[in-house]
Amino acid sequence: KLITFEGPEGAGKTTVLAIIAQRLKEKYKAILVTREPGGITISEKIRDIILNPDHIEMNEHTEALLYAAARSQHYFEKIEPSLKEGTLVLCDRFIDSSLAYQGYARGLGIDNVRKINSFAIGDKLPDITILFDLPPEIGLSRITANQERENNRLDQEHLAFHQKVREGYLQLASKDKERIVIIDANQEITKVVEDVWQALLKKLI
Ligand code: C5P
Ligand code: MG
Repeated sequence: KLITFEGPEGAGKTTVLAIIAQRLKEKYKAILVTREPGGITISEKIRDIILNPDHIEMNEHTEALLYAAARSQHYFEKIEPSLKEGTLVLCDRFIDSSLAYQGYARGLGIDNVRKINSFAIGDKLPDITILFDLPPEIGLSRITANQERENNRLDQEHLAFHQKVREGYLQLASKDKERIVIIDANQEITKVVEDVWQALLKKLI
């Protein structure tokens, strides 16, 4: 099964994912933790291009295509072979990031971004998606507090943009309630971990 973790920056996705992966290892022999954009050599290189702060002039079409390109290589080189071996795959961001950020927030249109992703990976969707939801001002304040973030592109993005990202995600979730579970990420990290864990236990049986 493919489980994806979605939501804005500063929501705690990466931290919670690591803790959840640790716990799942007690139940499942084979677990793969990976991330997007990235996960394998070629896609990590594409990540460096997209997130390089010197590339601020990159237009949103290029950006959307690069995310889709990174996803295609990552999916076919790493995720799909793992799924075929029966490995439980946990991925930090996946297609819903593209739909919410590029499709909705950047204004390319969710359906347009869906199309390029369908060219990139076909009609594949995660089995379960955990959506970390929180007000953007809280996510953003958590990030500024964390000087060690690897990219600072975010610093140039504004609250309004992150408000749109949130709306985009919530819209996607409202249209796919079976797959997308909304988690209140505006809580103590231990509580967020517990909520994610309960949601996964319910879905994994
Ligand atoms: O997942 P992580 O926090 O490492 O995200 C890296 C950056 O890429 C974030 O700043 C996020 O806003 C951006 N991103 C994006 N569009 C996507 C995926 C990520 O703008 N489709
Ligand atoms: Mg993260």
